Amino acid sequence: MAATIPLVFHPVYSQLSLPVRHRFPIEKYQGIYDALRERGISDSRFIIPQSVTPRELSHFFSPEYVQALANGTLDPKAMRRIGFPWSEQLITRTLRAVGGTCETARQALEHGVALNLTGGYHHAFFDFGSGFCLFNDLYIAARKMQQSRHIDNVLIIDCDVHQGDGTAALAQDDTSIFTLSMHGEKNFPYRKQISDLDIGLPKHCKDDEYLSTLEEALTVAFRCFNPDAIIYDAGVDVHVNDDLGLLDISTAGVLARDQMVFELCQSKGLPVAAVIGGGYQRDIAALVDVHLQLYTAAGVIS
Ligand SMILES: [Zn+2]
Repeated sequence: MAATIPLVFHPVYSQLSLPVRHRFPIEKYQGIYDALRERGISDSRFIIPQSVTPRELSHFFSPEYVQALANGTLDPKAMRRIGFPWSEQLITRTLRAVGGTCETARQALEHGVALNLTGGYHHAFFDFGSGFCLFNDLYIAARKMQQSRHIDNVLIIDCDVHQGDGTAALAQDDTSIFTLSMHGEKNFPYRKQISDLDIGLPKHCKDDEYLSTLEEALTVAFRCFNPDAIIYDAGVDVHVNDDLGLLDISTAGVLARDQMVFELCQSKGLPVAAVIGGGYQRDIAALVDVHLQLYTAAGVIS
């Protein structure tokens, strides 16, 4: 029932002043919200998430790292690895965005499917961040899902073009979280971590190969692991027009991918919490259009 799919958003997702020419398209989150509203989704459909607190984050990540980021005392080198200059705004938006993914996970368990309008901070590790990621929302959301008495095993399907290295490392010794990362082999992070299942795609991979590889990967994952819930990172930096992706996936290919994931989860009766992941194009309207495929695949818009 598409009408009941919860959408999680807060305007602060896009509220971050960045240096001129910074490559991160921070406007895209508000852009997705505006585009969904233009397509007839009423404002009351959107759930406003709470922020996570530094104290809560300290249950999952290094308390020293959490405190240093929250206070603005993180070493400049560690800050450069994250790729954003430190600001109060950065912390405010990040705590809300991570809270958004946690809320999306909670909503998914209640309604079957839920979608955040941000999320996918998969390059964040236990005690450092990297690649525009401060705190790993996918990992926290998985752990939070497991607090529900119906959920033991969580499968994280990460289709962002970059390997989910932080998630892989965080969940490495945890047999109750299975990490599947399908990514560009010759792309950031150049030193890969070991997920439970890694699929490294060649440069300029096209729709047919991409979709058949994903189908196979999902089959393998479900053969190895018996999940009770899914977290899906629907990164669109696989798109042919992406500035960072190096793959050649069409908009129709992104839609087919997201449909494959949703249909599989639905056929198995598994709840799925989806986040939008990466996507880098200077043309925000074009980028938003690719991100909208997730909402089309879920049946939120047609
Ligand atoms: Zn990415």
